[in-house]
Amino acid sequence: MDLGLQGKVIIVTGGAKGIGGAISKLIAAEGGIVVIAGRSQADNEKAVSEIEATGGKALAITAELGNVEDCKKVITATVEKYGKIDGLVNNAGANDGVGLESGNPEKFMQSLQHNLSHYYNLAHYALPHLKATKGNIVNIGSKVATTGQGNTSGYAASKGAINALTREWAVELLPYSVRVNTVIPAEVWTPLYETWINTLPNPQEKLASITSKIPFEKRMTTSEEIANTTVFLLSSRSSHTTGQILFVDGGYTHLDRSIS
Ligand code: NAP
Repeated sequence: MDLGLQGKVIIVTGGAKGIGGAISKLIAAEGGIVVIAGRSQADNEKAVSEIEATGGKALAITAELGNVEDCKKVITATVEKYGKIDGLVNNAGANDGVGLESGNPEKFMQSLQHNLSHYYNLAHYALPHLKATKGNIVNIGSKVATTGQGNTSGYAASKGAINALTREWAVELLPYSVRVNTVIPAEVWTPLYETWINTLPNPQEKLASITSKIPFEKRMTTSEEIANTTVFLLSSRSSHTTGQILFVDGGYTHLDRSIS
């Protein structure tokens, strides 16, 4: 199936590794031009080199997305280089463990800054360009918005807000034919996930216990599986899909986990 992404300019936040890395690679493999925006210049440049080595096109932009000015820079640098924006993948974020008991008001606001504000800021600054191309936005959320997890108020609030904004933006942008959708992962093996599991007392035991509860095939979702759905949503093959929250999680969030 030709996804029609040839020459499309798509920004992927946190696009150097993990889920964002898989999305970046797939966009490039489909002929799109991927703009990788993330805080580590070295990681971004490594990802761009890997894409270019396979004949793809990519640009690295160093940005700490918690800063509004950096969000603005991502948009202006992309437009300066390519003259347009066809898609925005809001993906960067981290489950930072700011709980009701363990956190405090300052840490809570910081968590929103790092997990939520840049989704809005980038969409805001990209909007004139998305209107011009009838482009679209795909957000990466989390099952935590639906299930809770405990000890992660900032992250849960951010991901809950992202689900709400998906519907809100889809409505606001109807007049411009700009679509907005969200993909929800649950358990995906990425550098972030590995770091998190290694903070627990018995990481291997915990991992086995988690995977045993994933209904479909008792395995983690791969980053590539998240990327496949994300890139499909970015493409004109999903031209009448907007305001949707899609769970790519092997049934983890909604199916009865007591059935083995
Ligand atoms: P990852 O492996 O840590 O990759 C995320 C990338 O984004 C990293 O390059 C990270 O840079 C960058 N980044 C994060 N916050 C940033 C910020 N404020 N400014 C600039 N760069 C930033 O994470 P992942 O597991 O692929 O997660 C990607 C998305 O999926 C996140 O939104 C996460 O909430 C969501 N998600 C993941 C899972 C899972 O099981 N992995 C489950 C549910 C939802 P550094 O490495 O320098 O921090």
